[in-house]
Amino acid sequence: MARKAPLNMQRNIGIMAHIDAGKTTTTERILFYTGVNYKIGEVHDGAATMDWMEQERERGITITSATTQCMWKDHVVNIIDTPGHVDFTIEVERSLKVLDGAVAVFCAVGGVEPQSETVWRQADKYKVPRIAFVNKMDRTGADFYNVVSQIESRLKAKPLPIQLPIGSEDKFQGIVDLVKMKAFIWTGEELGAAFHEAEIPEDLVDKAEEYRTKLIETVCESDEEMMNRYFEGEEFTEEEVKAALRKGVIAIDFIPVVCGSSFKNKGVQPMLDSVVAYLPSPTDIPPIKGVNPDTGAEEERAADDKAPFSALAFKIMTDPYMGQLTYFRVYSGVLEAGNYVINSTKGKKERIGRLLKMHADKREEIKEICAGDICATVGLKYTITGDTLCDESKPVILEAMEFPEPVLSVAVEPKTKGDQDKLSVALQKLAQEDPSFRVRVDEETGQTIIAGMGELHLEIIVDRMMREFKVEANVGNPQVAYREAITKSVSGEGKYIKQSGGRGQYGHVCIELHPQEPGTGFVFENKIVGGTVPREYIPAIE
Ligand code: GDP
Repeated sequence: MARKAPLNMQRNIGIMAHIDAGKTTTTERILFYTGVNYKIGEVHDGAATMDWMEQERERGITITSATTQCMWKDHVVNIIDTPGHVDFTIEVERSLKVLDGAVAVFCAVGGVEPQSETVWRQADKYKVPRIAFVNKMDRTGADFYNVVSQIESRLKAKPLPIQLPIGSEDKFQGIVDLVKMKAFIWTGEELGAAFHEAEIPEDLVDKAEEYRTKLIETVCESDEEMMNRYFEGEEFTEEEVKAALRKGVIAIDFIPVVCGSSFKNKGVQPMLDSVVAYLPSPTDIPPIKGVNPDTGAEEERAADDKAPFSALAFKIMTDPYMGQLTYFRVYSGVLEAGNYVINSTKGKKERIGRLLKMHADKREEIKEICAGDICATVGLKYTITGDTLCDESKPVILEAMEFPEPVLSVAVEPKTKGDQDKLSVALQKLAQEDPSFRVRVDEETGQTIIAGMGELHLEIIVDRMMREFKVEANVGNPQVAYREAITKSVSGEGKYIKQSGGRGQYGHVCIELHPQEPGTGFVFENKIVGGTVPREYIPAIE
């Protein structure tokens, strides 16, 4: 049996954060404390394990969605990387689709920032139960209570502190655990610093009582029987409080808030305890919906090893040693390496070669992968992000993530003329990995047009072409940029249709003469000029 822990002791989680909130540091510390990371470094010095790609380290952002498996207190924890930059919200979406719960990291100083709001709304859309981790409690200006109130006011969520910080800024020493009603104090700031249980400090006793009461009242609101017992004046055991918290977190009735300083190695272990205690296992989430491609009938696939195999490909990336990796999450059934599956989205058969589990510092080859788990495979020919892989005899197309349409188009050409073929190959490969990135050749101008989610997204594509495919490219404005057919009469000169191109991002629009008119031209201030026109003139023409 390939399971390292029973399915109810597995967590598929994401760590979501505004850029700079400390997601990378926190992830790194998790990997250290779960015992798989052999080396800890300052994240931007290039030692970060989750940031696979060179340019991510240079830019200090995480743009890939690698998964890493670790163990915490007999639980399997799969960490699915979720990027923090707004241009990569698509990457966030695809990881949110396949994870069961998330830790939202906030900076204790910066609090809820606009990007945190974007990611939060996406997590709401996919109904992802969350824990909030208020990081950087050691920084000047750190304010735990302010972040808690921002989670309420800006994110419209119901934050529920289950810890309180002991001290803050350079006096941050540890946490009060409001479930156990105990203090945990760290005696050093170095990696692996020891911490011990203690009584709640005098000056925090009243506050701890106040927040404990809030905690109990909140969990009772989601549980009628507990509410009745609460009114009877009954005390609850630690296990009862934890069970009620777990129920409320999974129902997204509230968001437990914990705190710490990843950088100073405080609070990470209790945060991991909260992950296994409160975030759902694959058996706690509703079955995924799908459609039978033959009959059109709706189906559901629950996390069950005995059910027919179904999985969703959520990430394709090129590994320098392994080549193209396809990451997928298994929703039902078991898959053995070497088996054939059907890509039901494309209607193609695929052979599953090797199955790989990614750990922070090594790849592990496994023989089979079970329901609820995540792994990567090599050598799939047709599968792209969002496709379903399933048992041929029991086909299903699972509900996939939504990919937004690209919003920005630019023209690219190789710096060296002879590199056009290399450029095309590079772009096709990148488009296969990234459904929000599109490539096309404009029929009229012959220009290669690339489209993506924003400037940074396209900049990174160009950067990757250079690094991974050794093609240097120039980027410019597309000459032609409108492809919506409308008919319009302009100054009595006849009928015109707008044609060709994507959306006019750079303010150039092309208007072609109506086919009934001889020749083709462009309209500028109601006259045909045979070039492109600034976008602001379009209303005048319309
Ligand atoms: P990411 O962009 O969310 O991945 O954030 P990083 O983990 O790269 O952290 C951004 C910066 O904040 C880095 O310089 C970290 O060293 C620093 N940082 C992360 N966690 C903490 C913390 O708990 N306290 C302090 N003082 N700095 C931190």
